[in-house]
Amino acid sequence: MTDERFDAVVIGTGPAGEVAVSRLSDQGLRVALVERELIGGECAYWACIPSKTLLRPPETRFDARRAAGVEEPAVHWPQVAEYRDEMIRNLDDSGQVKGYEDQGVVVVRGEARIAGPGRVDVDGRMLETDRIIVATGSDASIPPIEGLSAAGYWTNREATTLKELPASIVILGGGPVGVELAQFFCRFGAKVTLVQSAERLVHREDPAVGALILDVLREEGIDVRLDTRAERVRLERGERVVTLGDGQDVRGQELLVATGRTPRVEGIGLDKVGIEADPSGIQVDARCRAGDGVWAIGDVTGVMPFTHVGMYQGRIVAADIAGRTTKADYSAIPRVVFSDPEIAAVGLTEQQAREQGIDVATSRISLPDSIARPWTYEKEPRGDLGLIADRDHQVLVGAWAVAPLAGEWIHQAALAIKTKTPLEVLRDTVAQFPTFSEAYLKAVEALDD
Ligand SMILES: Cc1cc2nc3c(=O)[nH]c(=O)nc-3n(C[C@H](O)[C@H](O)[C@H](O)COP(=O)(O)OP(=O)(O)OC[C@H]3O[C@@H](n4cnc5c(N)ncnc54)[C@H](O)[C@@H]3O)c2cc1C
Repeated sequence: MTDERFDAVVIGTGPAGEVAVSRLSDQGLRVALVERELIGGECAYWACIPSKTLLRPPETRFDARRAAGVEEPAVHWPQVAEYRDEMIRNLDDSGQVKGYEDQGVVVVRGEARIAGPGRVDVDGRMLETDRIIVATGSDASIPPIEGLSAAGYWTNREATTLKELPASIVILGGGPVGVELAQFFCRFGAKVTLVQSAERLVHREDPAVGALILDVLREEGIDVRLDTRAERVRLERGERVVTLGDGQDVRGQELLVATGRTPRVEGIGLDKVGIEADPSGIQVDARCRAGDGVWAIGDVTGVMPFTHVGMYQGRIVAADIAGRTTKADYSAIPRVVFSDPEIAAVGLTEQQAREQGIDVATSRISLPDSIARPWTYEKEPRGDLGLIADRDHQVLVGAWAVAPLAGEWIHQAALAIKTKTPLEVLRDTVAQFPTFSEAYLKAVEALDD
């Protein structure tokens, strides 16, 4: 069979690969995309989209509880699941295939392997190109726990596509995925045990964040175990029984492993182009170049496992290939956990700022003590905002919030960090009354000088 030639071949079409494909095609390049599962990747079918869709209905019920004079709405699981299925396109990407083909993109189904410089083998079909873009994403990391495989477990895939709600569940991992899904299962009536090996939840964020969300989850009835690991798992009368490091057993009808992600670097032929299959991800430069004629984007780079980061890197690659000088800047990428209240953070934590030798000023304010919006929003107002500033340069370097809608208004901090807006300008910036955004002025004024 003769080889087919393309201007670019994109391996994997999660959000990162999709952006690269669309942009390169829009730039007039002849593009082939290779996908072994579904166009849209983890995010569209088993991650961001189903999880956020599933979290919203119970959140609405809790919103109603918190607003004055509102009767609590009923939430019906079958309709929630039906809408989730609609949102994940019933695991059918034929619309996406048609969309790309209409655009002139060649869609190749199958498992891609780099066969050598400029050559991609898809189950025996050879694609030739000067530009290979690797966007193979990540898999759920499965820790080596005795008995885990034999007992059976869920990853994000089973949890986000479930049909029947479990009566009880043990969740391993107290990061963003563990926290979101713990709240989802609990709010749908399951008895939830959340096991976190670190001393606090979402432990990569400022310590205050973990403490605040811990209180919320415990108040909702989630049994949170911190600073302990799952040592062994066994199946006992239809239940997964997990023995923890402290010797205690916790049990659940289901067991969800949410202990992080592993970049998909194995078996894709990186060695054929002299790239090391580093388990932490493909090393890339600021233009997402991984080697001669090879770029890598999204979770497979291990830079930051977020859809918006992968999409950003897709734009960077397209710009680089178009010959525009461009460099990725990750200093102001928002990080949101869609719990209720939401956790949002951007930039450096206080500890990271200190480690970088920054002369740090911080503030933390309680929203109900500082502004009006939390009171008009709900009867028992909530929320905290923390800022991290660079004293010498008089700019923000980090921010975090645990509060309603924090995932929306964190973007003000993101813009301030990205553009290095002087604190003086933030003090002189006027927010609409009464909004959560007003908190920034109070927090900037509260920075220790
Ligand atoms: C439960 C959960 C919730 C999340 N929620 C959010 C959120 O709200 N917001 C957010 O920003 N991020 C969220 N994330 C993270 C987000 O899903 C990922 O960052 C994102 O999907 C990464 O995109 P990607 O394109 O790099 O890879 P993926 O989405 O993993 O896609 C990679 C694609 O490559 C294909 N592929 C792999 N190897 C090959 C091969 N050899 N040949 C052909 N095709 C191949 C795969 O089939 C897949 O379709 C969440 C993750 C989880 C697990």
